[in-house]
Amino acid sequence: MQDNKALRRRSAQGLEHSKDRVPNEVKMQYETIRKGDPGRWGLRPNLADYARARQELGWEAFAAEISGLPGGGLNIAYEAIDRHALGQNKDKAALYWEGAAGESERYSFADLFNLTNRLANALRGLGVKKGDRVFTYMDRTPELYIALLAIAKAGGVLGPLFSAFGPDAVRDRLADSGAKVLITTPKQIKIVRQVLAGLPELTTIIVVNRKGAARELGPREVSYEELMAEAAQAPALEPTGPEDFAIVHYTSGTTGKPKGVMHVHQAIVGHYATAKLVLDLHPEDIYWCTADPGWVTGTSYGIFGPWSNGVSQVVFEGGFGAGRWYQVIEKYKVTVWYSAPTAIRLLMKAGDQAAKKYDLSSLRYICSVGEPLNPEAVVWSQKALGLPFHDNWWQTETGCIQIANYPAQDIKPGSMGRPFPGVTATILDEACEKELAPGQEGHLALKAGWPSMFRTYWNRQDYYESRFTNGWYITGDRARMDQDGYFWFVGRADDVINTAGHLVGPFEVESALIEHPAVAEAGVIGIPDPIAMEVIKAFISLKDGYQPSEELKKEIKQFVRKKLHALAFPREIEFLPSLPKTRSGKIMRRLLKARELGLPEGDTSTLEE
Ligand code: ATP
Ligand code: MG
Repeated sequence: MQDNKALRRRSAQGLEHSKDRVPNEVKMQYETIRKGDPGRWGLRPNLADYARARQELGWEAFAAEISGLPGGGLNIAYEAIDRHALGQNKDKAALYWEGAAGESERYSFADLFNLTNRLANALRGLGVKKGDRVFTYMDRTPELYIALLAIAKAGGVLGPLFSAFGPDAVRDRLADSGAKVLITTPKQIKIVRQVLAGLPELTTIIVVNRKGAARELGPREVSYEELMAEAAQAPALEPTGPEDFAIVHYTSGTTGKPKGVMHVHQAIVGHYATAKLVLDLHPEDIYWCTADPGWVTGTSYGIFGPWSNGVSQVVFEGGFGAGRWYQVIEKYKVTVWYSAPTAIRLLMKAGDQAAKKYDLSSLRYICSVGEPLNPEAVVWSQKALGLPFHDNWWQTETGCIQIANYPAQDIKPGSMGRPFPGVTATILDEACEKELAPGQEGHLALKAGWPSMFRTYWNRQDYYESRFTNGWYITGDRARMDQDGYFWFVGRADDVINTAGHLVGPFEVESALIEHPAVAEAGVIGIPDPIAMEVIKAFISLKDGYQPSEELKKEIKQFVRKKLHALAFPREIEFLPSLPKTRSGKIMRRLLKARELGLPEGDTSTLEE
């Protein structure tokens, strides 16, 4: 991700000459999916009238629906769990846990209340104070969720690490943030012990031994089970305030070294409001978010959004598998599902028949985030699942959804939708100074000041400040807004290709490529060219049953030639068994480029193996 200065520098190098953008022909082919009926379940959408909601609803209205701490102040864990456990929802299922091996466990709001109180008391006993960074490094078991909530209750700043991280990724993040306590499991402990010497500030490692096998504890290690047995169950809330730090999330590392993004307790207002209006959560829903809490979607919408709305949610410990995922939906009768384009492309790859084997009739509403959602994926889900995926856009930095397709709003496949009520989004020119008219492409920017906006990058306040200009937060993404106020993603500012003076976003080329029946995934980059400055190269992984060949390359080129402007057409195609991705499933174009050009690969701590 570049700062504004770098963006301006790049403009000065000639990007602003590219006035006549390559027309977006791919997206034009898709018909708008007209909405209006209340959906499969006859539920009235929480956001039934977009125009009215934008006029009438602001963040104050949502903040008024949040409880606040009884003695004043605000705590995200209290909003997620305690307020339900202390009210009529106490026996309602908060968590249905599906283990990787098919085990099931059920936790009510009252269960989570008691367990998080105990652990919060134990954390305090270990010296955790307001503002201390406390990390988790474990698989998606119930204890992960208990731990993250308990950290917030104790006043700590919760930092979830993805459980499959290697030693460098773990050391970097714990050292950068100065973590005091780490909660992990025997599966990860070897890696933790490897990096311990470089982490003098890490005083305690809590080991959750779910399976109960006899284990020796090493230096600084304590047993979770013993701590829990000894800790008091009395409520254990630290009186935190809206502006106290609550969460530190490292970004996905798609464009460079991951940054520690800091969120405050006030962010819960954003989680709550967007889970209600965008994910359309109703009290009777069974919700499933497939994201791991190691990424922001897994906390904002895998913990705080649904639970602050008092909704029951499913957590699946295992990884992706089309059949296994469909089974989870069938078993728990999931009604609202939130996933990501990379998973959706894999479901498409598995084929329509795979979906037909399961009873998915409980689903009423499905959403996607994390990468651009190819229009083909929206059309596919409509056909295979009977429901279109609703794309929405946001970032680790924004803390909650900013631009979205809503249940009652028409979907233009390929568009991210319209800004959330309370959010002001715009397109700025190359210098990030002037707002551009509809149809023009530029930098996607947001009016600063929404409740879940990040408050700094840990240890990088200068870089944080460089992301704002004249009250706008510059997102680092390029986009366009149409006459109806829908936003269209073009690409990361870093990934956009400048060919013969025209800007081409990789997304539209990739979207055209994956319409070809043989193409499972595509990643597009610019490679240097003496005449055009850059030309387009596409990396492609094929669907099962297709073999790479020169013929197929020709056929794919022929196929996309008709869909794209001549300049957006890939001159070169290379087949790869799979594309390099972050562990959260995003195509790492910077790595494709570095490898292509023989340049250093940079930070690869989040690279999926
Ligand atoms: P890093 O900042 O370390 O490079 P990252 O930007 O991938 O990593 P995240 O905060 O997880 O880290 O991802 C946010 C980015 O993901 C957005 O800026 C955008 O580029 C992309 N993204 C998310 N949702 C969408 C969407 N619906 N359509 C298009 N792009 C999306
Ligand atoms: Mg980013």
